[in-house]
Amino acid sequence: MTTKKARLGGSEDTICAIASPAGTGAVAMIRLSGKDALSIIQKIFKSSKKDFIIEKAASHTVHFGHIYSGDELIDEVLLSIYKAPNSYTGEDSVEITCHGSYFIQKKILELLVDHGARTANPGEFTMRAFVNGKMDLSQAEAVAELIASNSASSHKVAIQQMRGGYSKKIKALREQLLDFASLIELELDFSEEDVEFANRAKLLALLENIKKEIDILIRSFSLGNVLKNGIPVAITGKPNVGKSTLLNAILNEERAIVSEIPGTTRDSIEDTIVIDGISFRFIDTAGLRKSQDTIEAFGIERTYETIEKASVVLFLFDVNETTVNEVVDAINEFKARFPDQDKKYIIIANKIDLMIEVPHGFKNYVDHETIFISAKRKENIQSIFESLVKSAKTKGEEENNILVSNIRHYEAMKLCLQSVNEIEKGIQKHISPEWLVSDVKQAIYYLAQITGDVTSEDILDSIFSRFCIGK
Ligand code: GDP
Repeated sequence: MTTKKARLGGSEDTICAIASPAGTGAVAMIRLSGKDALSIIQKIFKSSKKDFIIEKAASHTVHFGHIYSGDELIDEVLLSIYKAPNSYTGEDSVEITCHGSYFIQKKILELLVDHGARTANPGEFTMRAFVNGKMDLSQAEAVAELIASNSASSHKVAIQQMRGGYSKKIKALREQLLDFASLIELELDFSEEDVEFANRAKLLALLENIKKEIDILIRSFSLGNVLKNGIPVAITGKPNVGKSTLLNAILNEERAIVSEIPGTTRDSIEDTIVIDGISFRFIDTAGLRKSQDTIEAFGIERTYETIEKASVVLFLFDVNETTVNEVVDAINEFKARFPDQDKKYIIIANKIDLMIEVPHGFKNYVDHETIFISAKRKENIQSIFESLVKSAKTKGEEENNILVSNIRHYEAMKLCLQSVNEIEKGIQKHISPEWLVSDVKQAIYYLAQITGDVTSEDILDSIFSRFCIGK
């Protein structure tokens, strides 16, 4: 384990990278950061103003001029100058806006390296920002999530976390626990005299508070995660009711914004679509599609597995061959199987094109919304979208604004909660201050993991390696 200040090999180096995406755009941006940033750029930049010295320029100013390789003019550029500590990384930094030619970008990068900079590793600018105290670890992680966000909902979760989100709260709780830890440690020095510097009632009150706060955050994880990765939706129903046809109709309807995201937990491809800024992830759709080609009946266990993972269940049936009671029985069976889960069921009556009249009872089916469609003719698919969006919005509004979407934080919070319970038990049993302080420190440790006040080298490496180069 290391503290963040102890980390960062090569932090003395000045680093550079192309920060704009690969390919040719109108303009591109190259970043340079570190103690020699200003002197390095001075060597290759000529201002349009006579006698201009970059090191004397004020922070947060933009300068027009030319980049030269020796006597050869490479490009006309704009330099943005940021001086330590008032920059993204906390170091002296320069952003070079040049023309978008890949040749120019590469040439400028080479010149920077020739004059003493080195190319940056993925996420190294953000890692420096973290090490220099410009942001905590959860904010640094949010930067990566912000860059990756592809819908209004995932963007909202990332931006909230980047602006501090819950990490301020976690920091405050941790500091209060630290105060207690030092008071209990004081008791160790006076162990002969049986004094209690740390008021146990106050400590218990603080623990209650921590539990309350952490519990809200832990509960927000399922929603936070869902908003980030897409709300999992399952299409279920007997064989041949039209599940694959419906899925294709849904995906075709939203053709422009369909994205294929490799499943993170398994090897399949998941279809994610964005409707009204909210991502919906159709789970196990690969399996569903395959079932069209196989004789294998849609096993009941498979149905349950799919439903287990879903927040929204689309229960599809053939309106011409199903009675109201069969539908009610199926839904009740699902509910009996997943009693505590807050799932939304949307009942979909398919193949209305073959229907002569609406079967008696379906129109008045009030417990659950029933949508009548023809998957084959793509009729009324829009109503399914409206219903999906409505269910996602009500859920979002019900919950607290602060959302945990990061699994690393979620795990640390759960461990913290466990250790808080241990502390409470310890106080009740009047365990010795020696043991008590060790339990308190454990809880402090988990809280510190979230904000990055203590982190292992491996965790930092795995977090920052997921960044792109240039960020
Ligand atoms: P799955 O086994 O539930 O995935 O069902 P499929 O999507 O493979 O559909 C089974 C059969 O029903 C296929 O022949 C489809 O063309 C047909 N089908 C699906 N939706 C409709 C519909 O809305 N109307 C009609 N007439 N046929 C449909």
